[in-house]
Amino acid sequence: MYTLRFDQYHNVINGKLKGAEKQYYSINPFTEEKLWDTPVASEQDLEEAVEAANVAFQTWKHSALEDRRTRIKQFANELLSQKSDWTDMIIKETGQPNELAKEEIEAACEWLTGIASIDIPEYTTHEDEDVKVTTKYFPLGVVGAIVPWNFPVFLALGKVASSLICGNTVIVKPSPYTPYSILKVAELAQNFFPPGVVQALGGDDNLGPWMTKHPGIAKISFTGSAATGKRVMAAAAPTLKRVTLELGGNDASIVCPDVDIDEVARRVFEDAFSHSGQVCIAAKRIFVHSKIFDEFVTKFTAACQALSPGTGYLSPIQNKVQFDKVRSIFEDCRAQNYEFALGGDQELAQIKSGYQMAPAIVVRPPDDSRLVQEEPFGPIVPILSWDDEEDVINRANNTDQGLGATVWCHDPATAERISMRLEAGSVWVNRGAFPLPTALFGGVKQSGIGGEWGPLGLINSYCSARTFHFAKK
Ligand code: NAD
Repeated sequence: MYTLRFDQYHNVINGKLKGAEKQYYSINPFTEEKLWDTPVASEQDLEEAVEAANVAFQTWKHSALEDRRTRIKQFANELLSQKSDWTDMIIKETGQPNELAKEEIEAACEWLTGIASIDIPEYTTHEDEDVKVTTKYFPLGVVGAIVPWNFPVFLALGKVASSLICGNTVIVKPSPYTPYSILKVAELAQNFFPPGVVQALGGDDNLGPWMTKHPGIAKISFTGSAATGKRVMAAAAPTLKRVTLELGGNDASIVCPDVDIDEVARRVFEDAFSHSGQVCIAAKRIFVHSKIFDEFVTKFTAACQALSPGTGYLSPIQNKVQFDKVRSIFEDCRAQNYEFALGGDQELAQIKSGYQMAPAIVVRPPDDSRLVQEEPFGPIVPILSWDDEEDVINRANNTDQGLGATVWCHDPATAERISMRLEAGSVWVNRGAFPLPTALFGGVKQSGIGGEWGPLGLINSYCSARTFHFAKK
């Protein structure tokens, strides 16, 4: 067991912990109290990390797949053995309630081991008496992994596992709102990987743009908002580096009239309000059939009322910018006199500190309202009613987003018919929205480009394909 100090933070460059001239800190979203000082990486720090990553790549890319697999799994086991320390850290940094923070670290370890267990496929696409044609997959080089603040460890380690198992080296950049757990996880990783294979740099708003334009970085794997994703893609163009964009969503959840209302109201509630809606694949537009609408709203609201902020799955909003954005959507709903089944100034007045927000449920706002059109990424959700299958599919698809969707329906034929027509990268049928390390995950339309996880995520996003034509005679 390796002992870590959770009150000191460093950049991790070439196997060493490094401070910086400039420091900054983030805050605990429950209390707005200052957390720890942490270094702001300079452009020179990035140069050193990119050089070390390229040197390490020359050896790491030739290492045996089994060796890489074993190291990643050992790293995951170590992380899991320290689960309670990491849970505390994630709670302080992200504002997640205890249960969710524990799930984040468990999921991060599941993704490490799950991705490390995947075999990288190769395909023989043509064979006759003259020639055998095979496509094989090779590592790209240095991956720059840029991650957001909602699930920092989980999202970072999904990219780390994918990079490493394919033979790439990786430099992780956390969000400035949540630098701590990622820097610490990279520190722990030094016990399992050679110098330069896993590095992490915390910084300010300069660091991301420095990384995306850097000629020594072969690929950017980015998770965050669509607005930043567009900047990342533009900045990557001059060097033609590979880019994977995992962006925002405005996921539809379609509830059919034949469901068990108690059960489905509870499950959709979990999809909508886990981490107070600060989840890319949260249910953000809930379409409920008019036959069961009133009963569903009553039960959905009751599930919500049973929780108070900071408990169960309800977190505070992680940062002030996001808090103001969610508040402005909330205020817009109030100004337009939309009907609230839950939520309002009374609940908000009880909140004394931090960026906490009481959950809000808005009944039948217009489809062109801000709440329905935009991704709130907070604890406010619209419930819309539908009568006609064709109509609800069109409304669900009437967005430039296409990350995930869920269908709740007792009749399997109807469930399949609806699910096949939804324009989303992942569709869950009678299951809550939760991905798997062995399944491709990515968005269609403006929710992303490419995808991660599963064999397809590895070969399409973390490898280059090379095709060999072997003459037989
Ligand atoms: P964001 O786009 O503001 O920031 C994401 C990361 O990009 C941060 O590390 C940030 O510092 C960095 N960044 C900012 N400007 C940059 C630039 N010009 N070049 C390079 N990097 C830059 O997103 P956020 O507010 O941290 O996260 C919330 C968004 O992320 C939501 O839209 C959510 O849906 C999305 N998200 C998507 C997924 C997914 O898997 N599709 C998962 C989680 C979150």
